Amino acid sequence: MRIIGLLRPAAMALLLCPLTALAYGGSGHALIGAIADQLLEAGPAQQVELILGMDLAQAANWADCVRSVQASAGPKRSFVYHGKEQYRASCGVYETPGEQRRMEDYVRRNFTQCPDGKPEYPCHTTYHYTDIAIQHERYDRQDSGARHDDLIAAIDAALAVLRGRRAPQPFSIADKREALLLLAHFVGDLHQPLHVGSVYLDASGQPVDPDTHAGSAQTLGGNSLLTGFDGANLHADWDDVSPLLDPAHPPAELFSAAIALPATAGEPGHMARDLGIRDADRGPPRFRWPELQVL
Ligand SMILES: [Zn+2]
Repeated sequence: MRIIGLLRPAAMALLLCPLTALAYGGSGHALIGAIADQLLEAGPAQQVELILGMDLAQAANWADCVRSVQASAGPKRSFVYHGKEQYRASCGVYETPGEQRRMEDYVRRNFTQCPDGKPEYPCHTTYHYTDIAIQHERYDRQDSGARHDDLIAAIDAALAVLRGRRAPQPFSIADKREALLLLAHFVGDLHQPLHVGSVYLDASGQPVDPDTHAGSAQTLGGNSLLTGFDGANLHADWDDVSPLLDPAHPPAELFSAAIALPATAGEPGHMARDLGIRDADRGPPRFRWPELQVL
């Protein structure tokens, strides 16, 4: 097996400054990808182009675009992409017959096979988050809220495919293109604190560590913490990106913050475990992946 390229994930580069606290919706993921594109050196940029046929800014929303693939009921399901208007801006690039078939095929392969999954959530939708209690500094697969189909496992699976190996169960990742489409998105999710750290409450509504406190309930990634009169919740507020942040023109200060962030030592796959489970009050994690070898 030969090294065919290096990505600098700075590349997948996430850079953190107060502005990014707002940025995790479609525009937010594109913005993260756009800054990663700026940080790519020439060789890795060629590899990204070779694998994806597009830049990371465009790629970063694919894993959310597949949510528009609808499955029919019954034992012989059919999977059909029905583009939703609200996602048109970030998913329009995939609305060609070939790309729609790829999205439908991905969802077909990643729909019901998750051992830890809940029937109401298609398997692939559970790849975007994990639910480690905010009292923890590191991810451990044994912790409450960790799953074999969670965000950390999904990043591991995408990295495995990019290195020429098969994705471990329960993931089905067809090829390096699919793997890089997923990775470009999941690294963004990794930096949304509500996708990694979860608040668990006891019967009196006080935050507790579920790994030492039985019978606690979680707040569903902030989706059950209402913040407004119109049904807005903490997670939705985080996902909203300021209209001042245009992915086509990333603010220079975001790029400066990203390039100034020293690369974090260690294997990229371990970065996810070391991210530190942070909530909004404690600030987002700050790390930058070192060079990632693509085999
Ligand atoms: Zn996501």
